[in-house]
Amino acid sequence: MTVKDLKPARVWQIFDEITQVPRPSGRLAKIQAWLVDFAKKNNLEYKVDEVGNVAMFRPAAPGFENAKGVVLQGHMDMVAEKAASSNHDFDNDPIETIVEGEWVRANNTTLGADDGMGLAIALAAITDPDIKCGPMEALATVDEETGLTGASNIKADMLRGDYLLNLDSEDDGVITVGCAGGLVSIFKFDYKEEDAPKDLIYFQINFAKFHGGHSGTDINKGFASATKLITRLLCTMGVDYRLAKIDSGNLHNAIAFTAEAIIGIKPEDKEKFAVAFNTFKAEVENEYHVTEKCFEMECKSVDAPAKVVDDCTAKRVITAVFAAPHGVASMSMEIEGLVETSTNLASIKMRDGQFVVEAFSRSAVESRKMELVEQIEAVMRLAGANETLREGSYQGWEPRMDSALLHLAVASWEKLYGVKPVVEAIHAGLECGLFLQAAPHMEMISYGPTLQDVHSPAERCHIPAVQKGWDFTVELLKEIAAGK
Ligand SMILES: [Zn+2]
Repeated sequence: MTVKDLKPARVWQIFDEITQVPRPSGRLAKIQAWLVDFAKKNNLEYKVDEVGNVAMFRPAAPGFENAKGVVLQGHMDMVAEKAASSNHDFDNDPIETIVEGEWVRANNTTLGADDGMGLAIALAAITDPDIKCGPMEALATVDEETGLTGASNIKADMLRGDYLLNLDSEDDGVITVGCAGGLVSIFKFDYKEEDAPKDLIYFQINFAKFHGGHSGTDINKGFASATKLITRLLCTMGVDYRLAKIDSGNLHNAIAFTAEAIIGIKPEDKEKFAVAFNTFKAEVENEYHVTEKCFEMECKSVDAPAKVVDDCTAKRVITAVFAAPHGVASMSMEIEGLVETSTNLASIKMRDGQFVVEAFSRSAVESRKMELVEQIEAVMRLAGANETLREGSYQGWEPRMDSALLHLAVASWEKLYGVKPVVEAIHAGLECGLFLQAAPHMEMISYGPTLQDVHSPAERCHIPAVQKGWDFTVELLKEIAAGK
Protein backbone atom coordinates (compact mmCIF):
# COMPACT_ATOMS: atom_id res chain seq x y z
CA MET A 1 0.00 0.00 0.00
CA THR A 2 1.37 3.42 -0.99
CA VAL A 3 -0.13 6.89 -0.70
CA LYS A 4 -1.16 6.63 -4.35
CA ASP A 5 -3.64 3.90 -3.41
CA LEU A 6 -5.40 6.05 -0.80
CA LYS A 7 -8.70 7.86 -1.11
CA PRO A 8 -9.68 10.49 -2.09
CA ALA A 9 -7.46 9.61 -5.02
CA ARG A 10 -7.20 13.13 -6.49
CA VAL A 11 -5.95 14.58 -3.19
CA TRP A 12 -3.46 11.80 -2.43
CA GLN A 13 -2.07 11.78 -5.95
CA ILE A 14 -1.34 15.48 -5.75
CA PHE A 15 0.09 15.04 -2.26
CA ASP A 16 2.33 12.27 -3.58
CA GLU A 17 3.59 14.57 -6.33
CA ILE A 18 4.27 17.35 -3.81
CA THR A 19 6.34 14.99 -1.62
CA GLN A 20 8.60 14.34 -4.63
CA VAL A 21 9.54 18.02 -4.87
CA PRO A 22 12.11 19.38 -2.36
CA ARG A 23 10.74 22.38 -0.48
CA PRO A 24 12.55 23.14 2.77
CA SER A 25 11.75 26.64 3.99
CA GLY A 26 13.97 29.21 2.30
CA ARG A 27 14.77 27.01 -0.70
CA LEU A 28 11.59 26.86 -2.70
CA ALA A 29 12.58 27.26 -6.36
CA LYS A 30 11.73 23.66 -7.19
CA ILE A 31 8.25 23.69 -5.70
CA GLN A 32 7.52 27.10 -7.26
CA ALA A 33 8.44 25.72 -10.67
CA TRP A 34 6.29 22.67 -10.01
CA LEU A 35 3.31 24.86 -9.05
CA VAL A 36 3.63 27.02 -12.17
CA ASP A 37 3.83 23.86 -14.20
CA PHE A 38 0.71 22.54 -12.45
CA ALA A 39 -1.20 25.73 -13.34
CA LYS A 40 -0.10 25.53 -16.98
CA LYS A 41 -0.98 21.87 -17.31
CA ASN A 42 -4.43 22.58 -15.93
CA ASN A 43 -4.98 25.72 -18.01
CA LEU A 44 -5.30 27.92 -14.96
CA GLU A 45 -4.45 31.59 -14.94
CA TYR A 46 -1.62 32.05 -12.45
CA LYS A 47 0.48 34.75 -10.86
CA VAL A 48 3.78 34.63 -9.01
CA ASP A 49 4.39 37.67 -6.82
CA GLU A 50 7.71 39.24 -5.91
CA VAL A 51 8.32 37.05 -2.85
CA GLY A 52 7.41 33.90 -4.77
CA ASN A 53 3.86 33.23 -3.61
CA VAL A 54 2.00 31.37 -6.36
CA ALA A 55 -1.72 31.94 -6.98
CA MET A 56 -3.90 30.09 -9.49
CA PHE A 57 -7.28 31.35 -10.54
CA ARG A 58 -10.35 29.59 -11.87
CA PRO A 59 -13.28 31.64 -13.13
CA ALA A 60 -16.79 31.18 -11.84
CA ALA A 61 -18.70 28.23 -13.26
CA PRO A 62 -21.54 29.28 -15.60
CA GLY A 63 -24.44 30.46 -13.50
CA PHE A 64 -22.24 31.17 -10.46
CA GLU A 65 -20.83 34.51 -11.60
CA ASN A 66 -22.31 36.31 -8.60
CA ALA A 67 -21.34 33.74 -6.00
CA LYS A 68 -18.71 34.66 -3.42
CA GLY A 69 -15.11 34.13 -4.47
CA VAL A 70 -13.18 31.62 -2.40
CA VAL A 71 -9.42 31.40 -1.84
CA LEU A 72 -8.13 27.98 -0.75
CA GLN A 73 -4.72 28.51 0.73
CA GLY A 74 -1.77 26.55 2.07
CA HIS A 75 1.95 27.16 2.39
CA MET A 76 4.43 25.51 0.04
CA ASP A 77 7.39 25.23 2.41
CA MET A 78 7.97 22.53 5.01
CA VAL A 79 9.98 22.21 8.20
CA ALA A 80 13.10 20.19 7.40
CA GLU A 81 13.81 18.07 10.47
CA LYS A 82 15.25 14.58 10.48
CA ALA A 83 16.36 11.99 12.96
CA ALA A 84 20.10 11.94 13.73
CA SER A 85 20.36 8.60 11.95
CA SER A 86 18.85 9.90 8.69
CA ASN A 87 20.94 10.77 5.63
CA HIS A 88 18.05 12.57 3.98
CA ASP A 89 19.02 15.55 1.82
CA PHE A 90 16.12 17.99 1.98
CA ASP A 91 17.39 19.90 -1.07
CA ASN A 92 17.37 16.94 -3.40
CA ASP A 93 15.68 13.86 -2.02
CA PRO A 94 11.95 13.16 -2.26
CA ILE A 95 10.18 12.53 1.02
CA GLU A 96 9.77 8.81 1.50
CA THR A 97 6.18 8.19 2.58
CA ILE A 98 5.08 5.14 4.56
CA VAL A 99 1.47 4.02 4.98
CA GLU A 100 1.00 2.48 8.40
CA GLY A 101 -2.54 1.50 9.37
CA GLU A 102 -4.61 4.69 9.37
CA TRP A 103 -1.54 6.94 9.19
CA VAL A 104 0.99 8.20 6.70
CA ARG A 105 4.43 9.14 7.99
CA ALA A 106 7.88 9.65 6.49
CA ASN A 107 11.07 7.66 6.91
CA ASN A 108 12.81 9.45 9.80
CA THR A 109 12.07 12.92 8.43
CA THR A 110 9.26 15.40 8.70
CA LEU A 111 6.46 14.34 6.37
CA GLY A 112 5.55 17.81 5.15
CA ALA A 113 1.82 17.13 5.37
CA ASP A 114 2.16 20.48 7.14
CA ASP A 115 1.27 21.94 4.78
CA GLY A 116 1.63 19.72 1.72
CA MET A 117 -1.74 18.18 2.53
CA GLY A 118 -3.39 21.61 2.68
CA LEU A 119 -1.90 22.45 -0.67
CA ALA A 120 -3.03 19.10 -2.10
CA ILE A 121 -6.63 19.78 -1.05
CA ALA A 122 -6.53 23.28 -2.58
CA LEU A 123 -5.11 22.01 -5.87
CA ALA A 124 -7.51 19.08 -5.95
CA ALA A 125 -10.44 21.46 -5.54
CA ILE A 126 -9.37 23.97 -8.18
CA THR A 127 -8.92 21.19 -10.75
CA ASP A 128 -12.10 19.30 -9.90
CA PRO A 129 -14.63 19.84 -12.71
CA ASP A 130 -17.42 18.47 -10.52
CA ILE A 131 -17.24 21.41 -8.12
CA LYS A 132 -19.54 24.13 -9.41
CA CYS A 133 -19.02 27.44 -7.65
CA GLY A 134 -18.01 31.07 -7.97
CA PRO A 135 -14.45 32.20 -8.70
CA MET A 136 -11.90 29.99 -7.01
CA GLU A 137 -8.27 30.62 -6.21
CA ALA A 138 -5.59 28.27 -4.92
CA LEU A 139 -2.88 30.21 -3.15
CA ALA A 140 0.47 28.72 -2.14
CA THR A 141 2.52 30.98 0.10
CA VAL A 142 6.25 30.88 0.79
CA ASP A 143 8.13 30.37 4.03
CA GLU A 144 5.27 30.21 6.49
CA GLU A 145 7.41 28.14 8.84
CA THR A 146 10.26 30.62 9.11
CA GLY A 147 8.35 33.81 9.82
CA LEU A 148 5.23 33.89 7.61
CA THR A 149 7.21 35.60 4.85
CA GLY A 150 4.73 34.92 2.07
CA ALA A 151 1.70 36.08 4.01
CA SER A 152 3.57 39.11 5.39
CA ASN A 153 4.30 40.33 1.88
CA ILE A 154 1.04 39.44 0.22
CA LYS A 155 -0.73 42.13 -1.80
CA ALA A 156 -4.45 42.46 -2.36
CA ASP A 157 -4.16 41.35 -6.01
CA MET A 158 -3.07 37.90 -4.82
CA LEU A 159 -6.23 37.55 -2.72
CA ARG A 160 -9.11 37.61 -5.19
CA GLY A 161 -11.98 36.48 -3.07
CA ASP A 162 -14.46 37.19 -0.31
CA TYR A 163 -13.73 34.11 1.77
CA LEU A 164 -10.45 32.43 2.56
CA LEU A 165 -10.11 28.81 3.62
CA ASN A 166 -6.72 28.38 5.25
CA LEU A 167 -5.83 24.67 5.07
CA ASP A 168 -3.03 24.72 7.62
CA SER A 169 -4.80 23.42 10.74
CA GLU A 170 -4.19 20.01 12.19
CA ASP A 171 -7.28 18.64 13.92
CA ASP A 172 -10.17 16.94 12.18
CA GLY A 173 -13.49 18.39 13.36
CA VAL A 174 -12.01 21.67 14.50
CA ILE A 175 -12.52 25.01 12.80
CA THR A 176 -10.11 27.67 13.83
CA VAL A 177 -11.12 31.31 13.95
CA GLY A 178 -8.21 32.95 15.71
CA CYS A 179 -4.49 32.55 16.31
CA ALA A 180 -1.51 33.87 18.20
CA GLY A 181 0.99 36.40 16.98
CA GLY A 182 4.69 35.76 17.39
CA LEU A 183 8.13 37.29 17.58
CA VAL A 184 11.62 35.82 17.38
CA SER A 185 14.16 37.23 19.83
CA ILE A 186 17.84 36.84 19.00
CA PHE A 187 20.64 37.66 21.43
CA LYS A 188 24.32 37.72 20.64
CA PHE A 189 27.18 37.57 23.12
CA ASP A 190 30.76 38.12 21.92
CA TYR A 191 33.18 35.67 23.48
CA LYS A 192 36.95 35.26 23.45
CA GLU A 193 38.72 31.99 22.92
CA GLU A 194 41.45 30.93 25.30
CA ASP A 195 43.81 27.99 25.26
CA ALA A 196 42.10 25.11 26.99
CA PRO A 197 43.63 24.60 30.46
CA LYS A 198 45.76 21.48 30.38
CA ASP A 199 45.10 20.64 34.02
CA LEU A 200 41.39 19.97 33.45
CA ILE A 201 39.65 16.78 32.33
CA TYR A 202 37.05 17.14 29.59
CA PHE A 203 33.62 15.65 29.09
CA GLN A 204 31.12 15.71 26.30
CA ILE A 205 27.51 15.93 27.46
CA ASN A 206 24.85 14.76 25.02
CA PHE A 207 21.10 15.08 25.40
CA ALA A 208 19.20 13.43 22.56
CA LYS A 209 15.89 11.93 21.48
CA PHE A 210 13.70 14.25 23.50
CA HIS A 211 10.24 14.58 22.03
CA GLY A 212 10.58 18.13 20.73
CA GLY A 213 7.47 19.32 18.89
CA HIS A 214 5.82 22.55 17.85
CA SER A 215 6.81 25.48 19.98
CA GLY A 216 3.22 26.80 20.04
CA THR A 217 0.70 23.97 19.94
CA ASP A 218 2.92 21.60 21.96
CA ILE A 219 4.21 24.12 24.48
CA ASN A 220 1.66 23.08 27.13
CA LYS A 221 2.07 19.33 26.63
CA GLY A 222 4.84 18.81 29.12
CA PHE A 223 7.74 18.07 26.80
CA ALA A 224 11.24 18.92 27.97
CA SER A 225 13.37 21.58 26.31
CA ALA A 226 16.90 20.25 25.88
CA THR A 227 18.09 23.86 25.87
CA LYS A 228 16.60 24.49 29.30
CA LEU A 229 17.84 21.15 30.62
CA ILE A 230 21.45 21.58 29.63
CA THR A 231 21.71 25.07 31.09
CA ARG A 232 19.96 23.83 34.22
CA LEU A 233 22.50 21.04 34.63
CA LEU A 234 25.44 23.39 34.17
CA CYS A 235 24.01 25.99 36.56
CA THR A 236 22.95 23.61 39.32
CA MET A 237 25.46 20.75 39.35
CA GLY A 238 27.66 22.45 41.93
CA VAL A 239 30.87 21.80 40.02
CA ASP A 240 32.84 24.59 38.40
CA TYR A 241 33.54 24.11 34.70
CA ARG A 242 35.08 25.69 31.64
CA LEU A 243 32.97 25.64 28.51
CA ALA A 244 34.52 24.57 25.22
CA LYS A 245 31.33 24.09 23.25
CA ILE A 246 27.56 24.30 23.49
CA ASP A 247 25.13 23.51 20.71
CA SER A 248 21.52 23.22 21.73
CA GLY A 249 18.24 23.12 19.86
CA ASN A 250 17.77 24.05 16.25
CA LEU A 251 14.75 25.89 14.84
CA HIS A 252 13.08 28.66 16.81
CA ASN A 253 9.65 27.11 16.25
CA ALA A 254 10.62 23.66 17.50
CA ILE A 255 11.05 22.68 21.13
CA ALA A 256 14.73 21.74 21.48
CA PHE A 257 15.14 17.96 21.43
CA THR A 258 18.94 17.74 21.39
CA ALA A 259 21.73 19.54 23.21
CA GLU A 260 25.45 19.05 23.40
CA ALA A 261 28.21 20.61 25.48
CA ILE A 262 31.90 20.03 26.04
CA ILE A 263 33.18 21.10 29.44
CA GLY A 264 36.40 20.84 31.42
CA ILE A 265 36.44 20.23 35.17
CA LYS A 266 39.16 19.76 37.76
CA PRO A 267 40.24 16.12 38.09
CA GLU A 268 39.36 16.16 41.80
CA ASP A 269 35.74 17.06 40.91
CA LYS A 270 35.29 14.01 38.71
CA GLU A 271 33.38 11.99 41.29
CA LYS A 272 31.22 14.91 42.34
CA PHE A 273 30.38 15.65 38.70
CA ALA A 274 29.46 12.01 38.04
CA VAL A 275 27.12 11.98 41.03
CA ALA A 276 25.57 15.32 40.04
CA PHE A 277 25.05 14.18 36.45
CA ASN A 278 23.40 10.91 37.47
CA THR A 279 21.23 12.62 40.06
CA PHE A 280 20.11 15.14 37.46
CA LYS A 281 19.33 12.38 34.97
CA ALA A 282 17.20 10.60 37.59
CA GLU A 283 15.37 13.85 38.33
CA VAL A 284 14.62 14.41 34.65
CA GLU A 285 13.41 10.81 34.26
CA ASN A 286 11.09 11.38 37.20
CA GLU A 287 9.82 14.80 36.11
CA TYR A 288 9.13 13.73 32.54
CA HIS A 289 8.13 10.09 33.02
CA VAL A 290 4.75 10.74 31.38
CA THR A 291 5.87 12.67 28.30
CA GLU A 292 9.48 11.72 27.56
CA LYS A 293 9.79 7.97 27.13
CA CYS A 294 13.00 7.46 25.19
CA PHE A 295 15.40 10.33 25.74
CA GLU A 296 19.13 9.85 26.15
CA MET A 297 21.38 11.79 28.52
CA GLU A 298 24.98 10.76 28.18
CA CYS A 299 28.32 11.99 29.35
CA LYS A 300 31.65 10.70 28.16
CA SER A 301 35.27 11.58 28.64
CA VAL A 302 36.91 13.31 25.63
CA ASP A 303 40.36 14.62 24.72
CA ALA A 304 41.13 18.18 25.72
CA PRO A 305 39.94 20.61 23.02
CA ALA A 306 42.34 23.26 21.74
CA LYS A 307 40.27 26.18 22.98
CA VAL A 308 37.69 27.08 25.60
CA VAL A 309 35.40 30.11 25.83
CA ASP A 310 36.31 32.92 28.21
CA ASP A 311 34.76 32.00 31.53
CA CYS A 312 32.88 35.23 32.16
CA THR A 313 30.92 35.15 28.90
CA ALA A 314 30.23 31.42 29.09
CA LYS A 315 28.75 31.70 32.59
CA ARG A 316 26.70 34.78 31.68
CA VAL A 317 25.08 33.06 28.70
CA ILE A 318 24.42 29.76 30.45
CA THR A 319 22.97 31.52 33.50
CA ALA A 320 20.82 33.84 31.39
CA VAL A 321 19.27 31.00 29.40
CA PHE A 322 18.62 29.09 32.62
CA ALA A 323 16.98 32.18 34.16
CA ALA A 324 14.91 33.31 31.17
CA PRO A 325 11.27 32.22 30.95
CA HIS A 326 10.28 29.19 28.90
CA GLY A 327 6.89 27.58 28.39
CA VAL A 328 3.35 28.77 29.14
CA ALA A 329 3.15 32.27 30.60
CA SER A 330 -0.63 32.66 30.70
CA MET A 331 -3.82 30.86 29.72
CA SER A 332 -6.75 32.46 27.91
CA MET A 333 -9.58 33.59 30.15
CA GLU A 334 -11.99 33.41 27.17
CA ILE A 335 -11.44 29.95 25.73
CA GLU A 336 -10.84 27.15 28.19
CA GLY A 337 -7.60 25.29 27.70
CA LEU A 338 -6.18 27.79 25.24
CA VAL A 339 -2.65 28.98 25.90
CA GLU A 340 -2.69 32.74 25.56
CA THR A 341 0.99 33.57 25.95
CA SER A 342 4.13 31.46 25.85
CA THR A 343 7.75 31.42 24.88
CA ASN A 344 10.13 28.76 23.58
CA LEU A 345 13.78 29.11 24.52
CA ALA A 346 14.83 27.45 21.35
CA SER A 347 18.55 27.36 20.87
CA ILE A 348 22.09 28.29 21.84
CA LYS A 349 24.60 28.23 19.02
CA MET A 350 28.23 29.33 18.68
CA ARG A 351 28.95 31.22 15.46
CA ASP A 352 31.87 33.44 14.46
CA GLY A 353 32.99 34.25 17.97
CA GLN A 354 29.49 34.77 19.30
CA PHE A 355 26.94 32.86 21.28
CA VAL A 356 23.58 33.19 19.55
CA VAL A 357 20.49 32.58 21.69
CA GLU A 358 17.03 32.41 20.11
CA ALA A 359 13.62 32.48 21.72
CA PHE A 360 10.16 32.58 20.14
CA SER A 361 7.32 34.29 22.01
CA ARG A 362 3.67 34.03 21.13
CA SER A 363 0.37 35.51 22.25
CA ALA A 364 -3.10 36.18 20.95
CA VAL A 365 -2.83 39.46 22.84
CA GLU A 366 -0.19 41.70 21.31
CA SER A 367 0.67 43.53 24.53
CA ARG A 368 1.15 40.22 26.36
CA LYS A 369 3.49 39.03 23.65
CA MET A 370 5.54 42.20 23.99
CA GLU A 371 5.60 41.90 27.79
CA LEU A 372 7.24 38.49 27.48
CA VAL A 373 9.63 39.69 24.77
CA GLU A 374 10.71 42.57 27.02
CA GLN A 375 11.07 40.20 29.97
CA ILE A 376 13.47 37.93 28.08
CA GLU A 377 15.34 40.97 26.82
CA ALA A 378 15.65 42.21 30.41
CA VAL A 379 17.31 38.94 31.45
CA MET A 380 19.68 39.03 28.49
CA ARG A 381 20.48 42.70 29.12
CA LEU A 382 21.39 41.86 32.73
CA ALA A 383 23.64 39.16 31.33
CA GLY A 384 25.36 41.70 29.11
CA ALA A 385 24.15 40.66 25.66
CA ASN A 386 26.07 42.60 23.00
CA GLU A 387 23.23 42.58 20.51
CA THR A 388 19.45 42.17 20.75
CA LEU A 389 17.34 41.60 17.66
CA ARG A 390 13.60 41.26 17.10
CA GLU A 391 12.60 39.46 13.94
CA GLY A 392 9.49 38.29 12.15
CA SER A 393 6.98 39.99 14.39
CA TYR A 394 3.39 39.38 13.39
CA GLN A 395 0.06 39.96 15.01
CA GLY A 396 -2.64 37.51 15.91
CA TRP A 397 -6.02 37.00 14.26
CA GLU A 398 -9.04 38.14 16.24
CA PRO A 399 -11.96 35.69 16.25
CA ARG A 400 -15.16 36.83 14.52
CA MET A 401 -17.95 34.65 15.78
CA ASP A 402 -20.55 36.52 13.65
CA SER A 403 -18.83 35.58 10.36
CA ALA A 404 -21.18 34.34 7.62
CA LEU A 405 -18.44 32.00 6.41
CA LEU A 406 -18.11 30.49 9.87
CA HIS A 407 -21.87 29.88 10.02
CA LEU A 408 -21.80 28.12 6.63
CA ALA A 409 -18.82 26.04 7.72
CA VAL A 410 -20.48 24.93 10.95
CA ALA A 411 -23.67 24.04 9.09
CA SER A 412 -21.77 22.08 6.42
CA TRP A 413 -19.87 20.05 8.97
CA GLU A 414 -23.02 19.31 10.92
CA LYS A 415 -24.84 18.24 7.78
CA LEU A 416 -22.07 15.80 6.79
CA TYR A 417 -21.11 14.39 10.16
CA GLY A 418 -24.10 14.98 12.41
CA VAL A 419 -22.13 16.85 15.05
CA LYS A 420 -21.10 20.44 15.48
CA PRO A 421 -17.43 21.10 14.81
CA VAL A 422 -15.34 22.55 17.58
CA VAL A 423 -14.73 26.24 16.94
CA GLU A 424 -11.57 27.51 18.56
CA ALA A 425 -8.54 29.72 18.40
CA ILE A 426 -5.03 28.27 18.47
CA HIS A 427 -1.75 29.07 20.09
CA ALA A 428 0.28 29.16 16.93
CA GLY A 429 0.82 31.48 14.05
CA LEU A 430 -1.47 31.22 11.09
CA GLU A 431 -1.17 33.36 8.05
CA CYS A 432 -4.74 34.63 8.30
CA GLY A 433 -3.92 37.67 10.43
CA LEU A 434 -1.49 38.85 7.77
CA PHE A 435 -3.96 38.24 4.96
CA LEU A 436 -6.40 40.46 6.82
CA GLN A 437 -3.87 43.28 6.70
CA ALA A 438 -3.85 43.08 2.88
CA ALA A 439 -7.55 42.30 2.43
CA PRO A 440 -9.47 43.49 5.50
CA HIS A 441 -12.84 42.62 3.96
CA MET A 442 -12.13 38.90 3.84
CA GLU A 443 -13.72 36.37 6.15
CA MET A 444 -11.59 33.41 7.01
CA ILE A 445 -11.56 30.04 8.68
CA SER A 446 -8.76 27.56 9.09
CA TYR A 447 -9.08 23.78 9.18
CA GLY A 448 -7.36 20.66 7.94
CA PRO A 449 -7.04 16.91 8.43
CA THR A 450 -5.43 15.57 11.59
CA LEU A 451 -1.65 15.79 11.71
CA GLN A 452 0.39 14.76 14.71
CA ASP A 453 3.89 15.67 15.88
CA VAL A 454 4.37 18.23 13.12
CA HIS A 455 7.82 19.83 12.79
CA SER A 456 9.43 16.64 14.08
CA PRO A 457 10.51 13.40 12.38
CA ALA A 458 7.47 11.74 13.98
CA GLU A 459 5.05 13.86 11.89
CA ARG A 460 2.11 11.82 10.60
CA CYS A 461 -1.16 12.40 8.79
CA HIS A 462 -4.45 10.63 9.55
CA ILE A 463 -5.83 9.02 6.39
CA PRO A 464 -9.57 8.99 7.25
CA ALA A 465 -9.36 12.66 8.26
CA VAL A 466 -8.13 13.55 4.77
CA GLN A 467 -11.33 12.09 3.30
CA LYS A 468 -13.43 14.01 5.82
CA GLY A 469 -11.55 17.25 5.21
CA TRP A 470 -11.97 16.87 1.46
CA ASP A 471 -15.69 16.08 1.67
CA PHE A 472 -16.15 19.08 3.96
CA THR A 473 -14.32 21.34 1.52
CA VAL A 474 -16.52 20.21 -1.36
CA GLU A 475 -19.69 20.65 0.72
CA LEU A 476 -18.66 24.07 1.96
CA LEU A 477 -17.85 25.26 -1.58
CA LYS A 478 -21.28 24.08 -2.63
CA GLU A 479 -22.98 25.93 0.25
CA ILE A 480 -21.03 29.10 -0.50
CA ALA A 481 -21.94 28.81 -4.20
CA ALA A 482 -25.62 28.47 -3.26
CA GLY A 483 -25.27 31.83 -1.52
CA LYS A 484 -27.13 30.79 1.59
ZN1 LIG B 1 1.96 24.71 8.55
